[in-house]
Amino acid sequence: MIIVLDNAISAADKRNLHQFLETRNLRVNEIVGEEETVLGAVGKLAIDPRSVEILPGVKRVIPISKPYKMASREFKTDNTIVEIPNKRGQTICFGGRKLAVIAGPCAVESREQMMSIAQKAALSGAVMLRGGAFKPRTSPYAFQGLGEEGVRLLREAGDAYGLPVVTEIVSAEHIPCTRDFIDMYQIGARNMQNFELLKRIGETGKPVLLKRGLSATIEEWLMAAEYLLSSGSQQVVLCERGIRTFERATRNTLDMSAIPVLRSLTHLPVIVDPSHAVGIRDKVPPMALAAVAAGADGIIVEMHCDPDHALSDGAQSLLPEQFDKLMRDISVLAPVLGREVAHIRKTAPEPLPLDKTKPGYQGVCAFSGIRGAYSEQAIGRYFGETVGELALLSFREVFEAVSVGAAGYGMVPIENSLAGSVLETYDSLFRFDDICIMAGATLRIEHSLLAIRGATLGTLKNCYSHPHAFNQCGDFLEQHPHWKQVFAQTTANAAKIVAEKGSVENAAIASGINAKYNDLAELTASIESSKHNYTRFVVIASRQHGVTLPDFPGQDRKASIIFIAKNTPGALCDCLSVFQRHALNLSRLESRPMPGEPWRYMFYADVVLPGMSREDAVTVVDRVIAELKNNAQGIRLLGIYQNRDC
Ligand code: PEP
Ligand code: MN
Repeated sequence: MIIVLDNAISAADKRNLHQFLETRNLRVNEIVGEEETVLGAVGKLAIDPRSVEILPGVKRVIPISKPYKMASREFKTDNTIVEIPNKRGQTICFGGRKLAVIAGPCAVESREQMMSIAQKAALSGAVMLRGGAFKPRTSPYAFQGLGEEGVRLLREAGDAYGLPVVTEIVSAEHIPCTRDFIDMYQIGARNMQNFELLKRIGETGKPVLLKRGLSATIEEWLMAAEYLLSSGSQQVVLCERGIRTFERATRNTLDMSAIPVLRSLTHLPVIVDPSHAVGIRDKVPPMALAAVAAGADGIIVEMHCDPDHALSDGAQSLLPEQFDKLMRDISVLAPVLGREVAHIRKTAPEPLPLDKTKPGYQGVCAFSGIRGAYSEQAIGRYFGETVGELALLSFREVFEAVSVGAAGYGMVPIENSLAGSVLETYDSLFRFDDICIMAGATLRIEHSLLAIRGATLGTLKNCYSHPHAFNQCGDFLEQHPHWKQVFAQTTANAAKIVAEKGSVENAAIASGINAKYNDLAELTASIESSKHNYTRFVVIASRQHGVTLPDFPGQDRKASIIFIAKNTPGALCDCLSVFQRHALNLSRLESRPMPGEPWRYMFYADVVLPGMSREDAVTVVDRVIAELKNNAQGIRLLGIYQNRDC
């Protein structure tokens, strides 16, 4: 039964309620939802719901009509998201917005085989590595797998490429030699109703990939999931892998309709294994795409670098090129369905040598561009000498470097007083959900026109710079309409290009300091359209790496919050009224389209928290976020931080 609690239930009443249920041999699970908190109580003995309904703090009691209880949607309305961490500080999720793709061979055969497949799989975008070590083969004479040795090779290959690993075990005997090496257990089709195995794997509490039995109904499959859930594993992913029918053209018949059917019956994530479903390599990609289109949360496919010599299931294993093409097709299809494909971030370039001898050394700060870029100047002004700098090729790489821990911080521009928002930064803040804002830094921007010695305004034909800088110098450029404007990665890169080209026809718009760095002449200084030209940067960090920055006494704090207003009349207005009720000044509101969801927007709000201590700020922001939940989804606090003029 589901017991919906009164929002105002006291701690004592809640304790009593737990006790009442547990003494009647019911297993109790508390689920804190967006709007209400419920207790799920399941057990062998039936108890009269009315005896629970009369207890203090209980709003109502709903009996669960399905034979599977903890697996049912009635028990838990929100989707379960199964989370699996990798060794690069990321979390692979099954059941959220992102699609997770698992790839790898049917069976682990050797170190070389695993390493080459893992490399190809990761490169193409798989987020998890599969490989069987204990193979449930139809024939006792077929290759049975490498056993423990296979599990170790799988782990080694996964770790080398940042991929968590999943493997099947066919007997509870294999738990001790596998549990510390793998991230997820697979229960194969042939063992879906091996209830003793289900119970023992459930007790490990580890995530489980539960395949559908060869001839199992959806209800039997969910009953198998119930065994796992009721014995301790909350992290179950269902995998449709084809069922036995009269059709012989394919190995099995892929029951695609199971996906939408499961969606309404259960809160558990569902993925599809097209490889074992069709059994023929060329038929795998279309069915994988169909699975994504039908709403699967991910797919698991078999892949092999030399499938003709694979020790098992070679005929259905994709060649690396086929897998790569499939991943590209999935990433095109995903946004149409409001999804995005999850990725393992590639390791960022090695950080520059660190000078840890500097007093107050705080680690490495990444930025996009080269020495002389405004971001690099912001690092110097904000951190002084206390950080090492890591120069990267794009804002995206900065986010990646921070996310994987190659840099403790990143310095990225977020808005300019003349040119407006830096949209790429806003979009990356949404996409990299493990990134938070630690601080703000405002820099006055003064642009100069730089060229090689001997050049004059009259000799120039091409002007290099970043598009934002062209925007900020619109008045000056209007006087030179015949100049061709050429985009560069940053203003500092523009100066470097002009120096390298060595022609009097080229100039760059960049900070004057770049004249010195590139031995250029400063033809004109202060060419920005207004002297009030400021860029606000933010210092980003990974939540997982947990670095902190010192406070600056006397500076007001600010909170940046992302939310998605519900798609109902007045929802945005209701969201904004939350800030008004708390007498908070919204200093900025930016909206950005949701990837893959036409005409839906997320909002980025900056809220001023004048004179508040960190503790007070956290309390107020917590309250605001709790109230926002009534009218918004996807709420994320980017950070509570101080801004400094640099
Ligand atoms: C496998 O994944 O290699 C496998 C044996 O799958 P299934 O249990 O679906 O046949
Ligand atoms: Mn197989």
